[in-house]
Amino acid sequence: MIKINENYLKLQAGYLFPEISRRVKVFQDANPNADIIKLGIGDVTLPLPPAVIEAFHHAVDEMADAKTFHGYGPDQGYPFLIEAIIANDFAARNVDIAPSEVFVSDGAKCDTGNIQEIFGIDNVIAVTDPVYPVYVDTNVMAGRTGPAENNGRYGKIIYLPCTPQNNFVPELPQQPVDIIYLCYPNNPTGAVATKEALTQWVQYARANKAIILFDAAYEAFITDPDIPHSIFEIPGAKEVAIEFRSYSKTAGFTGVRCAYTVVPQELKAYTTSGEPIAVNKIWSRRHSTKFNGVSYPVQVAAAATYTEKGRPQVRQLIDYYMENARVIRTQMEEFGYTVYGGTNAPYIWIETPDGVDSWHFFDQLLQEANVVTTPGSGFGSAGQGFIRISAFNSIENVKAAMQRINKI
Ligand SMILES: *Cc1c(COP(=O)(O)O)cnc(C)c1O
Repeated sequence: MIKINENYLKLQAGYLFPEISRRVKVFQDANPNADIIKLGIGDVTLPLPPAVIEAFHHAVDEMADAKTFHGYGPDQGYPFLIEAIIANDFAARNVDIAPSEVFVSDGAKCDTGNIQEIFGIDNVIAVTDPVYPVYVDTNVMAGRTGPAENNGRYGKIIYLPCTPQNNFVPELPQQPVDIIYLCYPNNPTGAVATKEALTQWVQYARANKAIILFDAAYEAFITDPDIPHSIFEIPGAKEVAIEFRSYSKTAGFTGVRCAYTVVPQELKAYTTSGEPIAVNKIWSRRHSTKFNGVSYPVQVAAAATYTEKGRPQVRQLIDYYMENARVIRTQMEEFGYTVYGGTNAPYIWIETPDGVDSWHFFDQLLQEANVVTTPGSGFGSAGQGFIRISAFNSIENVKAAMQRINKI
């Protein structure tokens, strides 16, 4: 008899975005003429920059000629891309990364989801609350958690609340943890972590032989010059952290698929008997066994984001979304809401009026303003009493949405 992996049965049904879609559909069916503006799901809306498209086209043409055709590429990615990554994303910030430490992939979702499999099943996981659900669900699937409890939390996971009181950066855990997922700039709260806050976490990880899995998918949206873009800007972080980057939000690659993960050579995890093992070697083995690389044209397209022509075009995309974020933030403040985020991230995290339930405020915005947002409670119990507004849309839609919210 074929057995199912019962860990999958622990996953909670009625996941956030399907439930949003369901409610939007119910409303749309009842109000077929309503013009709904979606500021919910975190997907980009602007096309790829011209320099990226040009490089992409050229690389496709290369694939059409036997003399320039590319088959399987190098396991960790083409050197032209890895060199551009190191020069632009790290050396420019005085962070020393070696080519062997960079793993090009098809997404930070896959990487943040897959990374847990190289660590033992008995590790204690800590996540922030609210949290990007991938970190939690992949550990549930692996069997690293207990069943879901009434409040939506899973047994054995340590949840670290992120609230206005701690500027949405968690305090160190009270009990020992082995794997800590951090995401800054943060989805969904739009918060950033200062150098001091990250230093505290790096010191914790070093003292406790723990590891930090740092999701920096939104680093390009940082505008404050004092905020670190990489956890490796913190001294000693290379011994205790892995960093995830993505071209998805930065350069509009959500439908193209390219990302990378940095696993430092210094990083060690331990056998039960305490023998240190280089994590880079293990991830390399996993990557080359289960993945056959990102397509050549996509890697060429990703490398084009770093060229003299590409860089200002990518910057323009980010500036466009950040202007949307500014409009949302300032308008919602003007309307009397308590607003967080939106200055170093494309997300604005808003307290619901009079502390009403997240879904209640979501429904009100949908029904009275025809604007779709994301209920904060969908990201964790500490998200209750908040909604997330995404800046990924056209400025016209953002302004129209703000006018409608003003009327309610
Ligand atoms: C969008 C997003 C990513 C990027 O995922 P890709 O698979 O690279 O598209 C990673 N982490 C977070 C928190 C995100 O919101």
